[in-house]
Amino acid sequence: TRVLLTGGSGFIAVHVLEALLTQGHSVVTTVRSDAKAQMLRDTFPNYGTDKLDFAIVADMAEEGAFDEAVKSDPPFEWVIHTASPFHFNITDTKKDLLDPAIIGTTGILNAIKKNAPSVKRVIITSSFAAIFSPKIGNRPGYTYSEKDWNPTTEEDAIQDPPSGYRASKTFAEKAAWDFIETEKPSFTISTMNPPMVFGPIHPKLQTLDTLNTSNQRIRDMMVGKSQDEIPAAGVYVWVDVRDLAVAHVRAAERPSAAGKRFFVTAGYYSNREIADILREQLPDVASKIATKGGEFPEGEHAVQYNQEAAGLMFLVGYFEYDNSRTEDILGIQYRSLQDMVKDTIPTLQAVGA
Ligand code: NDP
Repeated sequence: TRVLLTGGSGFIAVHVLEALLTQGHSVVTTVRSDAKAQMLRDTFPNYGTDKLDFAIVADMAEEGAFDEAVKSDPPFEWVIHTASPFHFNITDTKKDLLDPAIIGTTGILNAIKKNAPSVKRVIITSSFAAIFSPKIGNRPGYTYSEKDWNPTTEEDAIQDPPSGYRASKTFAEKAAWDFIETEKPSFTISTMNPPMVFGPIHPKLQTLDTLNTSNQRIRDMMVGKSQDEIPAAGVYVWVDVRDLAVAHVRAAERPSAAGKRFFVTAGYYSNREIADILREQLPDVASKIATKGGEFPEGEHAVQYNQEAAGLMFLVGYFEYDNSRTEDILGIQYRSLQDMVKDTIPTLQAVGA
């Protein structure tokens, strides 16, 4: 299948790219510069331009940014839109977060409708941030799933960068579903709504300083930045980037995924658990990793998240989650936190951690 992937040099996107290439698909990916295209060529040296090619889209917040990139011979059948700013180093919420997220999403949908009638499936990387609002609190006893929407507002968005990011993801995903409703295009969409995404990096694409936002916690612990206290997690649900990549591809493949959101999560984790695995795997830095902090909301004892009871997992003092749609429709079998940390360590060491 001929596929257009946006933001291919991103942490998640490069795993989607790898999954697509491994399965024999032919991919054009947008990147912001020739330098990023070259880094991807170096990462995947065994694929010729018939399998891996590039289109430069320097800023998707510009009107019509994707109009040319969606044209291709042979024509595209799938589009996977992952590009969206995920960092908190901003000066202007609208310009740095909201515009690229929202205009990027509506821009690619418009471009497909206008210039790529061959496209049948569009997969959009949204976020659990479009489902969950920390303002509502931990909600013990409540079960989050795809039915939930973050009720965030324009006013919330300007409170601080993390709120701006969550709003950018919520507004962008809403804009996508609104587009389907009002424009009635000939393609269908699915959205991926992962919480914290961790996992191996591709060393040619990242450095210790420019590491993607979610993996920075693991890096900080590995390099001894959490000597006094392990920081709290913020959101205590996660997924391995490799499982998320497979979910994107399966959603494109499977007709039953059309028109649906997917809460792609492996379940609970705490930074304390990540620290414990790191200490076990890296005896040399074990003494530099704090032994206090980073627990689950109600403290370490709350880890009575009960695996035995009817196969259900719940965490004392925290919401429950329903990821059954990702198992039933996409057939995802989730990797463990242990495997994620073990496989991530050497890739971070490769960039100097
Ligand atoms: P990265 O920062 O690694 O990737 C973001 C990508 O978007 C990069 O390729 C970046 O290009 C591109 N991008 C950002 N702004 C623009 C712009 N204005 N024009 C064109 N391209 C742009 O982050 P992730 O891989 O982690 O995130 C990918 C997606 O997954 C995002 O949609 C994010 O919201 C979502 N997500 C991530 C989670 C996580 O924990 N990592 C959790 C839930 C959702 P460049 O690097 O060249 O600037």
